[in-house]
Amino acid sequence: MTLYGKHDQETRNVLDPIFGSFSEDHDLTKYELNQQPTEPRIAYQVIKDQLLDEGNARQNLATFCQTYMEPEATKLMSETLEKNAIDKSEYPRTAEIENRCVNIIANLWHVQSNEEYMGTSTVGSSEACMLGGMAMKFAWRNRAKKLGLDLNAHKPNLVISSGYQVCWEKFCVYWDVELRTVPMDLNHQSLNMEKVMDYVDEYTIGIVGIMGITYTGRYDDLEKLNDLVENYNQKTDYKVYIHVDAASGGLYAPFMEPDLKWDFQLKNVVSINTSGHKYGLVYPGIGWVLWRDQAYLPKELIFNVSYLGGEMPTMAINFSRSASHIIGQYYNFIRYGFKGYHDIHQRTHDVAVYLAKEIEKLDLFEIVNDGSRLPIVCYRNKDNREHEWTLYDLADRLAMKGWQVPAYPLPADLDQIEVQRIVVRADFGMGMAHDFIEDLKQAIHDLDQAHIVFHEKTALKKYGFTH
Ligand SMILES: *Cc1c(COP(=O)(O)O)cnc(C)c1O
Repeated sequence: MTLYGKHDQETRNVLDPIFGSFSEDHDLTKYELNQQPTEPRIAYQVIKDQLLDEGNARQNLATFCQTYMEPEATKLMSETLEKNAIDKSEYPRTAEIENRCVNIIANLWHVQSNEEYMGTSTVGSSEACMLGGMAMKFAWRNRAKKLGLDLNAHKPNLVISSGYQVCWEKFCVYWDVELRTVPMDLNHQSLNMEKVMDYVDEYTIGIVGIMGITYTGRYDDLEKLNDLVENYNQKTDYKVYIHVDAASGGLYAPFMEPDLKWDFQLKNVVSINTSGHKYGLVYPGIGWVLWRDQAYLPKELIFNVSYLGGEMPTMAINFSRSASHIIGQYYNFIRYGFKGYHDIHQRTHDVAVYLAKEIEKLDLFEIVNDGSRLPIVCYRNKDNREHEWTLYDLADRLAMKGWQVPAYPLPADLDQIEVQRIVVRADFGMGMAHDFIEDLKQAIHDLDQAHIVFHEKTALKKYGFTH
């Protein structure tokens, strides 16, 4: 049915009340374009209403992605939507703002003064990882060719823990690279330092360390990895380097653990990515990737676009996109400064630690991650649990109050363990946390009392959780 159907010819009256209009009286065409235009105020309402029964973003404890920005930031971003980030000669100030963001991040990540760092904004960490991975592959190929390695004898490989995010699987499929995963187990819930170098050979394009494993929030021990790589490199011509996937930790750790060595302070870390839309506190679609020195970003991957009558290098995959997210990131940097980011993250951390303590007190769950690193709380049912319900039942129960708390099995090799995960974000204050704990206790009480059909104890389901 078309939006106006038989009323096509009628003169529409701007005084018609929205809910007395023709389009509110009919179901919209869904998969074909309506023949006639719709009044803006009515189109707005119709679409807004279609989105009504979606989850409430602020209560979504499943995602790292930012769900709040200050009204001034939102205003600034909506007023700059038309700026095209790639059009550097039309919008040179915007290009300069991106450049400032890269420099701000480079300094947070301790670039070295004797090196020439480079970086770019991206749509998110996935694009950033793609670029980091490509640079590693190209650089490896250039090195290996010089050393006379038969490039066709084996597929190149990438070494990473089994807690990797799906973007690395994509990278390996797109670029025909073998994904070599180092299994995690109960004693190694991040990259296993005793085993990792066993996976490395002449065909290794690089090792990826993760600052914030998506599933548990743990950090790989990059200082140790750097030492292992240094040792390895001393003994071979086939050097291997590290890319750090710091999607969530990259704009968290510098404020919360400034003494932790994970970034360009480590000699063999050559590139790092982060998601501006995670702890960079910008709405989704922005990421960043930086190389410590141009030497690690092969020239084949750098292209030039025109800029003020001259040229400027670009290495992002996407061409046109709005610059508003870059401007939103810059707003946050200016607005919060180091202290602001620290204070927000500290509060986020305090909430995570509070939640972990309260959940532990219930004496039903074993805490897998207590929020002491990334503000993520993970827990599993105690082995000797007496209740019949599973974490999936609990997730369903919490959803009745609007809370989205996913339950899922841990990644490969730990996948017999199912956990529930709460990601604490900047907009989840202590008051909300107290309310949540109240709702959690009520949900457990209801489940204990309920005569409902519980999920099978053995059913391993998955809720969305990899972001
Ligand atoms: C979220 C995440 C990604 C993907 O990031 P996007 O910005 O959503 O593309 C990659 N790696 C890790 C470790 C992540 O946590």
